[in-house]
Amino acid sequence: MRLIFLGPPGAGKGTQSQKLAESLGIPQVSTGDMLRQAVAQKTPLGEVARGYMESGGLVPDDIIVGIVSERIQKDDCAKGYILDGFPRTVVQAEKLDEALRSAREHLDAVVNIVIEEEELVRRLSGRRVCEACQRAYHVSTSASKQGGVCDACGGRLVTRADDEAGTVRTRLEVYRNQTSPLVQYYRQKGLLRDVEGIGSIQDVFSRINKAITRQGSDNP
Ligand code: AMP
Repeated sequence: MRLIFLGPPGAGKGTQSQKLAESLGIPQVSTGDMLRQAVAQKTPLGEVARGYMESGGLVPDDIIVGIVSERIQKDDCAKGYILDGFPRTVVQAEKLDEALRSAREHLDAVVNIVIEEEELVRRLSGRRVCEACQRAYHVSTSASKQGGVCDACGGRLVTRADDEAGTVRTRLEVYRNQTSPLVQYYRQKGLLRDVEGIGSIQDVFSRINKAITRQGSDNP
């Protein structure tokens, strides 16, 4: 299965796509995680990406398209994958379509997590991530058992640089201007599955499973 997870920052794309990837036995391809890893390792990609990420802007399309195209050609993606955080612009979506077409492959669905902006700000400002394994927590709704320490690997929990208040506003604006047109783009293709993002992780996960197993009701 080839899926895309779409939605504003803080909607739960990372958490849900990771859970779904595990249950389907296919990789989760998160461009945000790939970039953060490159930044942490100070690779040439990381050095270029850092400034864009810290300001809340987008890394240029050609760079992102390059890393995703390379990643989805790896053996572990042969049976499918979940793209988390990509595409984020219409140009990226068109490039992905081209790459799929030339590989004679197609997308199965685009999960669009729908959630109000007020809730996104609340979530992002309380979000903490493990600096070692990237697992996400929230200070009030899903805190780690031992404050500041990851339950899964014992790593240190930190606030992502781009979750600071000013940057969050920029990221939401970037989503509205550059990424939200993809909702219409995929709706027109009959691939979009809207899923309400409010509720427990398990509730949202059940909705996603239902949404991807039913045939699209929004075929044009
Ligand atoms: P995320 O973890 O998906 O919120 O991504 C964190 C940051 O990485 C974003 O705010 C962007 O700066 C950058 N980024 C991730 N995915 C993309 C993409 N598809 N296109 C451009 N920039 C991206």
